Amino acid sequence: MSAYDVTIIGSGPGGYVAAIRCAQLGLKTAIIEKYTTLGGTCLNVGCIPSKALLDSSEHYHNAVHNFGEHGIEVKDVKANLAQMINRKNEVVSQTCAGVKYLMDKNKIDVYTGIGALADKNTVVVSDADGKTQSLSSKNIIIATGSKPNYFPGMEPDKKRIITSTEALNLPEIPKRMLVIGGGVIGLELGSVYGRLGTEIEVIEFAPSIIPTMDSTMGKELTRVLKKEGFKFNLEHRVQKVENKGKSVLLTALNKKGEEVTFEADYCLVAVGRKPFTQGLNLEAAGLTVNNRGQIDVNDHLQTAVPNIYAIGDVVRGAMLAHKAEEEGVFVAEQIAGQKPHINYNLVPGVVYTWPEVAAVGKTEEELKAAGVSYKVGSFPIKALGRARASMDTAGLVKILADKETDEVLGVHMIAPRAADLIMEAVTAMEYRASAEDMARICHPHPTYSEAIKEAALDATEARALHV
Ligand code: FAD
Ligand code: NAD
Repeated sequence: MSAYDVTIIGSGPGGYVAAIRCAQLGLKTAIIEKYTTLGGTCLNVGCIPSKALLDSSEHYHNAVHNFGEHGIEVKDVKANLAQMINRKNEVVSQTCAGVKYLMDKNKIDVYTGIGALADKNTVVVSDADGKTQSLSSKNIIIATGSKPNYFPGMEPDKKRIITSTEALNLPEIPKRMLVIGGGVIGLELGSVYGRLGTEIEVIEFAPSIIPTMDSTMGKELTRVLKKEGFKFNLEHRVQKVENKGKSVLLTALNKKGEEVTFEADYCLVAVGRKPFTQGLNLEAAGLTVNNRGQIDVNDHLQTAVPNIYAIGDVVRGAMLAHKAEEEGVFVAEQIAGQKPHINYNLVPGVVYTWPEVAAVGKTEEELKAAGVSYKVGSFPIKALGRARASMDTAGLVKILADKETDEVLGVHMIAPRAADLIMEAVTAMEYRASAEDMARICHPHPTYSEAIKEAALDATEARALHV
């Protein structure tokens, strides 16, 4: 039996980053992954492949719709989905190989197989040939992630009624696609196919899209995506989806309670993800899951058994790669006797549509509900010289600051490269900056970042310079 200080089950961004940090701290570390490639959902079927296809489809969209105005004449532009998917697969395999390199470089033992708890200090790995190995470990980190969720009546058959995983590998560009759920996955993957010419029709349960973000973002994104051809059916309750051979038929109840039907070639089910703990044999170590399927953890990310930790999508909180990574580092440092800290309020969220949506801190709705008195500063992207130069004029930056102290409480933006721009706000908030602090920082011209300075000026004294 091999003996380790730490054994990690699952090699997604939570697990593999935890492994690297454990090794850096001198802990003898093993990582177990059931698939033959490392990297988990994020690298194999999540963040990386979706962004690869988003970029390819964005290039195509620009070539068809925007190059002419820039004075670039291109004829017979065609979308070659198979090549886009090949390139995406290449990006994925290079990125996964990079994780294997990092494991080897840090002398982390990698086991391929399903990891299951035998007791609180033993993990059994079963490989595809049925061979088993027992690993004895002082500490165990569960980082088994999540899988796509669905509700009764919309069970994916993975052929025409699909999840994000199949949507990353479609054999053709659909003519029409229904998307159940106007959240992150629905809008990102809907954008990929929408840009390639697919008619996208979203069926959303809530009264707005991206309903957990600040409501201004949902309104602005709806406007932008409608221009791109998206159709939205809000407050619709899906009853059933049927595979009719070459098409799908979706039946829903609209907000008046009337039955409505929608037909398309494919239906993407994107109604959230659920924690994955199948095969872990949690009971053997005295653990269970809560009614949301998550493993309960305390503020130190310890489960009910103190030497067993859990991180990432399998525990409470945002299902995001960077949140899982922070938790991986946190647990490694905790095991090594350090006193790490995570500020969950400052975990940024991004939707990689174009323009991108990004946010950190509290939404206006959250501040209202908490009875906090706040002020709002905002600035439209179209007022920027850079935006006109680049022909990217949609969006805005919105800053929420405490009415008394001027401390920045939330920043929400829909803007080109908002995913990168948001880091200025995260840094400022980490150091508890006021809106005036942000407004007084010199921003390079001409950039999209000037919209942050202007929104901060607007929040400080309603004195934005360029509107
Ligand atoms: P995972 O990445 O899910 O990894 C868990 C790993 O554990 C898997 O490899 C699994 O095979 C393995 N495993 C499970 N059980 C066992 C077992 N018993 N034995 C051995 N191995 C096991 N997040 C972002 O922050 N940004 C994005 O742009 C983004 N885009 C996304 C796009 C899509 C289409 C999807 C689906 C998700 C996206 N996410 C994004 C979410 C992100 O992928 C997850 O939040 C992140 O992967 C969670 O990391 P994790 O380590 O907790 O789990
Ligand atoms: P989500 O929670 O973002 O969106 C799900 C949407 O489905 C919501 O708008 C919800 O109101 C709606 N919905 C729920 N039940 C419904 C029903 N019965 N009928 C119609 N609509 C319904 O979930 P997702 O888009 O599936 O993504 C899953 C997770 O993956 C998210 O937690 C997200 O954080 C993560 N993810 C992140 C990124 C990113 O960071 N850019 C990208 C993709 C996925």
